[in-house]
Amino acid sequence: MSDNLVLIFGSLEHSRKEIKSLFRFPADRTPVAFILALSCLDFLLYFLVHSTIFLFCYWLIMAFPKMLICAWSHHHQHTGTFRNKSLDRILEFFYALHTGVTTHLWRLHHVLGHHLNYLDQNKDESRWKRDSGESMGEVEYSFIVALTAYYRGYKVGGRYQKVRRVFIKYTLITFSILFLLTWFNPVGALFLFILPMLTSLLLTAWTTYDHHSELDTDDVFSASRNNVGKIYNLLTGNLGLHTAHHYKQGVHWSKLPELHEKIKSKIPPELISGTEPESA
Ligand SMILES: [Zn+2]
Repeated sequence: MSDNLVLIFGSLEHSRKEIKSLFRFPADRTPVAFILALSCLDFLLYFLVHSTIFLFCYWLIMAFPKMLICAWSHHHQHTGTFRNKSLDRILEFFYALHTGVTTHLWRLHHVLGHHLNYLDQNKDESRWKRDSGESMGEVEYSFIVALTAYYRGYKVGGRYQKVRRVFIKYTLITFSILFLLTWFNPVGALFLFILPMLTSLLLTAWTTYDHHSELDTDDVFSASRNNVGKIYNLLTGNLGLHTAHHYKQGVHWSKLPELHEKIKSKIPPELISGTEPESA
């Protein structure tokens, strides 16, 4: 009996190590586990629940958590989660159903677009200025960025054909599966996938308004607003340390606090809000 237990625990430990080794950064394990657990819950409800009122309430309640998933999807587009590309593609399918952003859309629009162009409002894919040079309001900005996301991402792909091919392929796969899910259960698909995808994309655009709007400068240290609050950064994977993120966009989200510490003296104090956690 005890030999069997040793064998079982040995094989469990072996599986645990194998799962751990799939991730490029250990810090990604917990958020990815939460996000995939939420996908499991969505699919469970898709197959088991047929109450429109229940699904409507679930969509409203989950709008906030799914908006937070957009931050993690963003991090994934900067530094892929898994060592294996196929696993990244599978994860991106579930990210797409939560956030409305398919494989490589943010890589084109955000990583290869916005991050290179955010200091130039004539080019920025998430520009906060109108063509006339006036600043957009929050609502105008949110709708324009959300509604043009796929078009602008596709356009950036003109310079990155290989990335664009992957974007088109997996976007078609994702929307084909979404079509089938809608075909078999229209109400479930509407409240569990279609509406969350639309609201998440819009809320993502809205949350980014504050990152750079009205900061008309060529200086990277003065071009982003930061929120150093502990809860905000816990929920978004340090997205509040936004100057550090733009200063070195390839740095994994878990390493941003160290980078922020190094550069924070260069950031104007009025661009830092929230209370920094006490250092140990
Ligand atoms: Zn970014």
